[in-house]
Amino acid sequence: MKILVAEDQVVAAIHLRRNLEIMGHDVTVAPDGEAAWLRIQDGDFPLLISDWMMPNLDGPDLCRRIREARLDRYTYIILLTSLDRQEDRVKGLRAGADDFLTKPPDPAELAVRLEIAERILAVHDQLARQNALLAELASTDALTGVKNRRRFAEDLELLYTQADRQGFPLSLILLDIDHFKMYNDSFGHPAGDLVLSEVGAILRSNIRGQDVVARYGGEEFTVLLPMTNESGAMEVADRLRRAISGRDWPHRAVTASFGVATSGIGISNTQTLVEQADRALYIAKRAGRDQAVHFFRHDRSLTLEPLNS
Ligand code: GH3
Ligand code: MG
Ligand code: MG
Ligand code: MG
Repeated sequence: MKILVAEDQVVAAIHLRRNLEIMGHDVTVAPDGEAAWLRIQDGDFPLLISDWMMPNLDGPDLCRRIREARLDRYTYIILLTSLDRQEDRVKGLRAGADDFLTKPPDPAELAVRLEIAERILAVHDQLARQNALLAELASTDALTGVKNRRRFAEDLELLYTQADRQGFPLSLILLDIDHFKMYNDSFGHPAGDLVLSEVGAILRSNIRGQDVVARYGGEEFTVLLPMTNESGAMEVADRLRRAISGRDWPHRAVTASFGVATSGIGISNTQTLVEQADRALYIAKRAGRDQAVHFFRHDRSLTLEPLNS
């Protein structure tokens, strides 16, 4: 285990390090509380054994600082106390210590305390893994494996703000499967579900890591393309369109229509961006489906027609 020892007395530090190394641990020594704090922040130490009295930052204050920082990973803290300072333990517990050892630590007792630490750290790790999994599930659409609508809304706000601040374009693709009601009616809802899940997989495998694919709702998906201008976004949209229509689908051909919008002139918020993509999608449907239309480039005569499919 990676262990950080915070100890200002060189002899005590060397002695403790030797004992820990004999037990097979990977030990780093910091000469005072501040130095230990710096190590903790970038060293990813699951276990800290800290002296109580140290210059700059003492043991309890170091504990308190670690607990207040709410680091990604739990740090198990053992404070070293001298025999005549036993009454300080309450203060140490309040500061966030997990355990205490009397100085100098007896090797047998040290070994047992480390076993307890490893047991508790394993529980913390398992909880962290489960939490990460839950967070992932909470932002994913179960049927298609792409991000859900809520996550899309969050990412859109974030990416839009970032693009606006940095002066880069952000493009948004909205796509809708063509005549999908008919597909369900002809081949059944479960067959329709398979198409949705396959379209999700096609979208995911045809974008870059920084792009975000989400299910907007029903048979509509959205793709967010950071740092992508009008022509770049149209290239992506057309590639996705061809990937869908080119697939050898089981019952009949499946196609989708694409509406694309890009941040910049005439767009002041995320809502306008979504509205423009939606408008462009509507025009793609009107113009015959299985095609991509950019809001800036569309045939304006089509927008005058009434809104029905
Ligand atoms: P258009 O080309 O104009 O988009 O026609 P469309 O039939 O695709 O559009 P419409 O909005 O009339 O129908 C959407 C269909 O999508 C109807 C609905 O049953 C289907 N759908 C929505 N969500 C799901 C789903 O989760 N599973 C399945 N199988 N079908 C879904
Ligand atoms: Mg000391
Ligand atoms: Mg639709
Ligand atoms: Mg549709």
